[in-house]
Amino acid sequence: MSRKVIVAGNWKMNKLPGEGAALATELRQQLSAEILKEAEVVVCPPFTAISAVAEALRGSAIKVGAQNVHWAASGAFTGEISAEMLKSVGAEYVIIGHSERRQYFGETDATVNSRLKAALAAGLRPIVCIGELEAERKNGETNAVLSRQIRGGFAGIDAAAMAQVVVAYEPVWAIGTGLTATPAIAEDAHRFIRAEFAALFGAPVADALRIQYGGSMKPENARELVACPDIDGGLIGGAALKAESFVKLIHEALAR
Ligand code: PEP
Repeated sequence: MSRKVIVAGNWKMNKLPGEGAALATELRQQLSAEILKEAEVVVCPPFTAISAVAEALRGSAIKVGAQNVHWAASGAFTGEISAEMLKSVGAEYVIIGHSERRQYFGETDATVNSRLKAALAAGLRPIVCIGELEAERKNGETNAVLSRQIRGGFAGIDAAAMAQVVVAYEPVWAIGTGLTATPAIAEDAHRFIRAEFAALFGAPVADALRIQYGGSMKPENARELVACPDIDGGLIGGAALKAESFVKLIHEALAR
């Protein structure tokens, strides 16, 4: 099964609209049509920059995503944002369940599940993040944690809808720390994750599912990570904030 590489930039709480548009413009100038045929490239600015970034990327193959979505269509949910709102400003993708949401904002597998259902119902393409804490890995709980996150986060999802979904394996100890999982550690987790999805949705769905690695991926390590059979790209934080490193990383990922 050949899966198209997908590299997504998670800009987190960085970039004003003008700065985001400038970065997006650099990306569209530097990523050739050939590269964008081989790799799906997504940028996920903060909510306030989505519109400007989508405008800067109009007509380009680079896609725009958001970093969160609420499960309700509208209503008394101060500070939240709906799938339709995101679509209305040009988002096609949305990150769900990022570990920073889980750690700092009380995100649970149940809320991930609600957000995932709302995103799919609205036609947004979810990038669902899972991954273990350092202590969980040290205690030998990695697979149990991943299994719980998958079974909770994906409860009640139709196998047919899985074609829209991307999963990001992001070991929490590797995010923003400069510590990257070795290719062997990452591939082990990715293989386990794919097997879990096979058990839940069947082998064809699992074979087609794209699973990104995230956690201090950079140009220097992207090639060896994406060379692993079950790693289909990356979810990139720090290295996505500058065109030079993000473009280089994409080239390295494709050179796998
Ligand atoms: C992320 O935020 O999803 C991430 C992987 O960050 P970083 O690349 O900075 O570790």
